[in-house]
Amino acid sequence: MTMQASTAFSLEFFPPRDDAAKQRLVAGAQQMLVIDPVYCSVTFGAGGSTRDGTFDTVRVLRELGRDAAPHLSCIGSSRDELKSLLQLYRQEGVSRIVALRGDMPSGMGADAAGALRHASDLVELIRHETGDWFHIEVAAYPEMHPQAAGPEHDLTHFVNKVRAGADSAITQYFFNADSYFDFVDRAQAKGVNIPIVPGIMPITNYTQLMRFSEMCGAEVPRWIRLRLAEMGDDKDSIRAFGTEVVTDLCQTLIDNDVPGLHFYTLNNAEATLAIWRGLTG
Ligand code: FAD
Repeated sequence: MTMQASTAFSLEFFPPRDDAAKQRLVAGAQQMLVIDPVYCSVTFGAGGSTRDGTFDTVRVLRELGRDAAPHLSCIGSSRDELKSLLQLYRQEGVSRIVALRGDMPSGMGADAAGALRHASDLVELIRHETGDWFHIEVAAYPEMHPQAAGPEHDLTHFVNKVRAGADSAITQYFFNADSYFDFVDRAQAKGVNIPIVPGIMPITNYTQLMRFSEMCGAEVPRWIRLRLAEMGDDKDSIRAFGTEVVTDLCQTLIDNDVPGLHFYTLNNAEATLAIWRGLTG
């Protein structure tokens, strides 16, 4: 079966660190317009470290004619800081936001965590301050958030975010489609009926993938790990294998009527485009 015309794609970027990286981002985002994303999103650095960069990148993507959503994490920010950022976004016509707890930058103590401790608190604040203005996305973890006490606890906290007013969710990446289907079934059994969109991580670099996965609790299946490890520094083989694995995953998800696919592009147009071509070709 080939991709259905109705598949809604979204693309995630991170704020570039300098002008050269910004130019690469613009060029890559332009190339990726062929995917016709429903929206793009831009990550927010721990403790607000990319606050300006996030909004600048949102502006850049909007200039390319795309709806763009800033990520906003509450940890490390005061209630007033969050409120003023929400007002700024609203004034500027931003109407979609990805609401997260975030992670404390290493070396900062619990005292610096700020007033809001969970993403559900941030969703509540956004709804309290701005009513229905924003379409709110939240994060979901098919393989459980690494700090959760257990899958049921984590699911309960996810449901709380939805009840606080989230409109849709994007998952942490995964390579085992069953973990996603199981999570969606369990969420729906608890009355969740918002779209839960799979987050898709292209595979281009073994070391980086293992490091990210270690941090965020995503499992890289043994067979994928072993194949990648054996390829060593052979970037072409890693890219070809990674594209095949992730395209197959996306096709399985599409065949099972997922509400969309959210690509963690890592600002790398070619990796995402290769998967998309595999789905459309
Ligand atoms: P929460 O939903 O608050 O959950 C965090 C943990 O707390 C979970 O273990 C949960 O079970 C637990 N919990 C929740 N509520 C309660 C409660 N009431 N009592 C006890 N425990 C509770 N990070 C960034 O820094 N910037 C980004 O731009 C960014 N974008 C992301 C986008 C997506 C799609 C995803 C999936 C993750 C992203 N992250 C980002 C990472 C995210 O910030 C981390 O995973 C973070 O550790 C948790 O954020 P959260 O919003 O899921 O938190």
